[in-house]
Amino acid sequence: MTQHRTTAEWQALSREHLLAPFSDYKQLGAKGARIVTRADGVYLWDSEGHKILDAMAGLWCVNVGYGRRELADAAHRQMLELPYYNLFFQTAHPPAIELANAIAEIAPEGMSHVFFTGSGSEANDTVLRLVRHYWAIKGQPSKKVIIGRINGYHGSTVAGASLGGMQAMHEQGDLPIPGIEHIAQPYWFGEGGALDPQAFGEWAANELEKKILEVGEENVAAFIAEPIQGAGGVIIPPESYWPRVRQILAKYAILFVVDEVICGFGRTGEWFGSQYYGLEPDLMPIAKGLTSGYIPMGGVIVRDEVAQTLAEGGEFYHGYTYSGHPVAAAVALENIRILREEKIVERVKQETAPYLQRRWQELADHPLVGEARGLGMLGALELVKDKQTRARFEGQGVGMRCREHCFGNGLIMRAVGDTMIVSPPLVITPAQIDDMLLLVRKCLDATA
Ligand code: PLP
Repeated sequence: MTQHRTTAEWQALSREHLLAPFSDYKQLGAKGARIVTRADGVYLWDSEGHKILDAMAGLWCVNVGYGRRELADAAHRQMLELPYYNLFFQTAHPPAIELANAIAEIAPEGMSHVFFTGSGSEANDTVLRLVRHYWAIKGQPSKKVIIGRINGYHGSTVAGASLGGMQAMHEQGDLPIPGIEHIAQPYWFGEGGALDPQAFGEWAANELEKKILEVGEENVAAFIAEPIQGAGGVIIPPESYWPRVRQILAKYAILFVVDEVICGFGRTGEWFGSQYYGLEPDLMPIAKGLTSGYIPMGGVIVRDEVAQTLAEGGEFYHGYTYSGHPVAAAVALENIRILREEKIVERVKQETAPYLQRRWQELADHPLVGEARGLGMLGALELVKDKQTRARFEGQGVGMRCREHCFGNGLIMRAVGDTMIVSPPLVITPAQIDDMLLLVRKCLDATA
């Protein structure tokens, strides 16, 4: 347990010692962090005792909600039994084996192997190593290039940030590393111009074929994409996009990597976003909802044909000390048990997501909202100056202002530029969705 301190003391101590991720250090220095001290269900409490509705489920990860004692008990039991062992050098342990088996049961048909990692970023580092190793074993070592998308997010390690298409991250890190290309994103509201959404979706998908031909099929190892771009701003592709991408991938010998770090474990109302869209990936990076964020863990779910090829390749010189960590695996197993036994994914599909989406659409009438979009347990609002022309408030920090109003009113909603996004715990109730919507509207009114 941490000791009791006042908010000012926490902030001072944090300023002295903590280098926080994805934070503006100048702002933090001036204002100090908001200190979150406890959580239950869909709510957080800060060090001042304020109750906050967490409409982001932490960082899109607390799928079963906060305060689930069963997850703490699973970690406790496993720590006493076998707190650590690894999967290196021909060893294994029951929690990792059981977990790989449980994941195989819920994964798409023909994807029954899992390589464990410590996070989503590590999962995408593994993807990069694995796809190049795969093609080398197949006798095609020139197939090294991985195609990602502008504004895609695949993590913050060197490989993850390179595969992602976040310009600010590339600029700071002198990224991407060689051998990674990016194509346009299927972001109709922001980049569709005069095209209607379906024509734009086809155009964006065709960019993949253009890039394959430019790089040469013999040099392309894989295409990586999120089913719905999360950190990029909950970008839901037009309906024409995925079918056209699938047609293109069927023409070329290229691995398809569907990054399920956000969409996995129920967020779309299916276990995986790939199932929602009928995609047939070769590799699926996972993390976040795998343990509902209670403990760090990630992995890559691998198609059986790819796993068989790896088996022919002898030693794979890759892995992490915490790959398949027994305590994390025990928590993930318990988390999957909860999702299954409480039928949380089914409930999202049949009740919670339809209700959230119906209520979310009501926000479209707000003068600031150019588009209210959503799917499953994801929602986004595009804040605009002019609803008709979709003109934005260039550089005026409207999204950040809205986020501040949310903070002040007991709601966590994230701002990606002027796109406001939500991704609440999957267990949020209709009454709590009503409360969330009241708060969102109040914050929009305050921002306008
Ligand atoms: N992939 C996607 C789609 C993500 O959204 C994220 C994190 O937000 C990652 C990968 C990276 O995961 P982590 O932060 O666990 O490294």
